[in-house]
Amino acid sequence: MRPLNRRELLRRAAALAGLAGSGAASALLAGCTPLKAAPREPRGVFSLGVASGDPLPDGVVLWTRLARDPLYGGGMPEVPLAVDWRLAEDPALTVGVRSGTVPALPGDSHAVHVEVGGLEPERWYWYRFFHDGERSRLGRTRTAPAPGSVPAEMRFAVASCQAWHGGYYTAYRHMAAEDLHLVVFLGDYIYEGRISTKGARYFPSDTTRTLADYRNRYALYKLDADLQAAHAAFPWVVTWDDHEVVNNYAGATDPVYTPEPLFLARRAAAYRAFYEHLPLRAAQRPRGPDLTLYRSVAWGDLLTLFVLDTRQYRTDQPCADGVQPLCAGARDPAATLLGPAQEAWLTGALGAATARWSVLAQQVPVMQRALPRAGGLHYAMDKWDGYRAARERLFAALAARPPGETIVLSGDVHESWVGDLWRDFDRPGSAILGTEFVATSISSGGDGRDTKPGTAAILAANPHIRYYNGQRGYLRCAVTPTDWRADFRTVPYVRAPGGPVETAASFRVQRGRPGVVRLG
Ligand code: FE
Ligand code: CA
Repeated sequence: MRPLNRRELLRRAAALAGLAGSGAASALLAGCTPLKAAPREPRGVFSLGVASGDPLPDGVVLWTRLARDPLYGGGMPEVPLAVDWRLAEDPALTVGVRSGTVPALPGDSHAVHVEVGGLEPERWYWYRFFHDGERSRLGRTRTAPAPGSVPAEMRFAVASCQAWHGGYYTAYRHMAAEDLHLVVFLGDYIYEGRISTKGARYFPSDTTRTLADYRNRYALYKLDADLQAAHAAFPWVVTWDDHEVVNNYAGATDPVYTPEPLFLARRAAAYRAFYEHLPLRAAQRPRGPDLTLYRSVAWGDLLTLFVLDTRQYRTDQPCADGVQPLCAGARDPAATLLGPAQEAWLTGALGAATARWSVLAQQVPVMQRALPRAGGLHYAMDKWDGYRAARERLFAALAARPPGETIVLSGDVHESWVGDLWRDFDRPGSAILGTEFVATSISSGGDGRDTKPGTAAILAANPHIRYYNGQRGYLRCAVTPTDWRADFRTVPYVRAPGGPVETAASFRVQRGRPGVVRLG
């Protein structure tokens, strides 16, 4: 970049004075100014909205963060601040009121996580926060059904991969208007990379490495009105993938093999910012570079979500990263996606599961996706395809379950896929252990297409795969004791706001009858 002379600096400053707060100012600045130069807007203290999550039959966690200057560190005084909360059974917050006051601490970026208890099962609640004469927007949340009860139907959405620069959160705008009980989020809540001027949305921001960087990145994302609407409308159950820290990291290893202590310091900053910005319980509060994210969420005896973490404990990709031919290391029993403790927990929990449906909510596709390339079949090695022995162990646990009661929900690949999980993917007719729905991205990847070149060849090479779609959107599920219905809700574009939503395809799984069926 050519250094500016004094006259040029003064000219630009004068131009900016006339343009302050306008998009033209940031356009003028783009490309040749320090990164922290975008115009600042005055904002309320609840600029980042509200959220709720991890519902129990008798409680839920409520979230907000005080931030008057969210893109630049928060702008709050470096002292503990009092936040009042109020939750009730009606939107006016007058019936069955629960309330309290909690401290918002500077060490937590003035984020608060309120674990409300003593609530009634399977019921809507509304809530607000209050601070210094301001009140937050109204949030709505819902408790889980009572243990042992079997609700007639549960409706939820599955979302992942919301690159802010990739496009508008049109999918969230439509999701917020749906009649749902819950949102399940499967990772890539933020992306850590430098934001390019070539994306659908631009804000000058370099790669996130420090706690301050990650906090500002979450703030950028959470300022979005459509994302805030989806958080305010439903409780969320969240897990993460790689981009909450850095692309395709594995445990204590990043893709450029940064010395482990250095990378773990970055991971600690990233995990802390993740916790600070999402509606998680105290059990998920990080300790240094560790955060226990795997857990189960029960919806009565209808469904149990086993929420997995396939990043923190995984071993390095045995066949390297990217799309490659299979290597011997993929069959190494020491290669793991879940790590021994989580794997043992999951195996035990699946073995003891009594709900009508057992659901794995996790990030990277489980199903085999053989990709025909010159020189033979290739596989995406960051997924379960690159960890064959680990998948064998998972499949052994699934094979011990009653057939037709397991559903896997995945994200990560910015495309929609549906496939049955065959005990042996290379042997047609082998036992079907469950069905996997891979939900597409909210915005990552920009405008998508329903098909891509080579789709037919991929489907031909993978007879267990029943569907592909490369558009943006989310998955909507309606679950009854006997049926699982999945609708792929897609938007035709995200690089401009306002796209309509449609159902691109619908599928059904009947409980006890393994194998997915396309509807319509
Ligand atoms: Fe992603
Ligand atoms: Ca990912």
